[in-house]
Amino acid sequence: MPEKKIILDQIENPNSASIDFYMSIGGYSALQKAFKEMAPGQIIDEVKSSNLRGRGGAGFPAGIKWSFIKRDAPGPKYLVCNADEGEPGTFKDREILQKKPHIMIEGMIIAAYAMGLDAGYIYIRGEFFAPYEAVDKAIAEAYAKGYLGKNILGTGFSFDLYTYRGAGAYICGEESSLINSIEGRRGLPRLKPPFPAQNGIYGRPTTVNNVETFAAVPSIINNGGKWYAELGTPKSGGTKLFSISGHVERPGVYELQMGTPWKEFFYDICGGVRGGKALKAVIPGGSSTPVLKPEELEGMTMDYESVMSKGSMLGSGAVIILDESTDMVKLLNRILHFYAHESCGQCTPCREGSDWFYDIIHRIYHGKGKESDLDLFENLGKNIGPNTICAFGDAFVTPTLSFIRKFREEFLAYIKRADKAAS
Ligand code: SF4
Repeated sequence: MPEKKIILDQIENPNSASIDFYMSIGGYSALQKAFKEMAPGQIIDEVKSSNLRGRGGAGFPAGIKWSFIKRDAPGPKYLVCNADEGEPGTFKDREILQKKPHIMIEGMIIAAYAMGLDAGYIYIRGEFFAPYEAVDKAIAEAYAKGYLGKNILGTGFSFDLYTYRGAGAYICGEESSLINSIEGRRGLPRLKPPFPAQNGIYGRPTTVNNVETFAAVPSIINNGGKWYAELGTPKSGGTKLFSISGHVERPGVYELQMGTPWKEFFYDICGGVRGGKALKAVIPGGSSTPVLKPEELEGMTMDYESVMSKGSMLGSGAVIILDESTDMVKLLNRILHFYAHESCGQCTPCREGSDWFYDIIHRIYHGKGKESDLDLFENLGKNIGPNTICAFGDAFVTPTLSFIRKFREEFLAYIKRADKAAS
């Protein structure tokens, strides 16, 4: 299957971020349609039938999430766009934010109208300065055209939208820590339940979705949920953005139909391994997902279920290519340094465990490891993931164990070199 550009349509145009250009290619027609022809409940039904699953990594069905909000509950209710794209290997939301922000804003206004929400925040990763400027400009343009603010287009519906900049913490990509951060607190994940739909920003009902999730909404409203669902697999509708990096001939952001064969994506569209080298491994969904060996990629398609059936996760769609020259010990050392640094420290197994994991790999990498260290990873891992407030524990334990189990010989080679040096 070739690329299928819906969200990325016309994104190469130098004016793609402007509202005039966006409207010249049909932008904001879905909002007009939603206002004129659809009841709020119909919009949610359409999103449900589209099989759109959250594009931030968890893959939760968007229409079902929207239906959790009690539309008629008194008091303010909020919408949040998670634009804190911080997973190592991920850079697909940045494309939308910087080059086509109106498609996300249009999706947010439709979502707010469907759920009866009063105000929205776009929580942008602190390092994304250019995308932040592009989004702020786009919001001002949308206000000027009457798509945001009071009594939008004479419908009686009002919705205000704000940007909020993060301060560089990876954990603020987790929805409850992001909510804490918006409230001005430390970005620490909250125990769930209660979930944001009952107790979000300032204790009010709140829906949080990813940038790409909102960007998919206008095409669903314009073409129907059934049309969108049929672009993908029975359980994952539509298209998905993938950011591919590492040792690949043509790195970048690609939009594919869900269910596109891995081989067509990697070899036909991305040109295969850079410099004609052999493929050693692939991290299919960002650094928090288990690594896959080439033989495990046989028959894989680019959708949640297929990648999971191979023992990993699609995550945010951040594909990292590793060629035959990759030192897996050095790579894991780098990855675990990141996680040890980014643990918020709130729960002991993660705070201490992430440091222990890094200490162990650091000593292996620096020639001071023991064979028993490999078992230590397994033993420690069992006590971290299930005993933490958020999924961060699993995010560093699962990939580590996949590295150790699948490339054990490389780790042992480092350890044996250490033994020789000591004797
Ligand atoms: Fe913080 Fe880690 Fe606990 Fe998540 S698992 S709340 S990141 S300490």
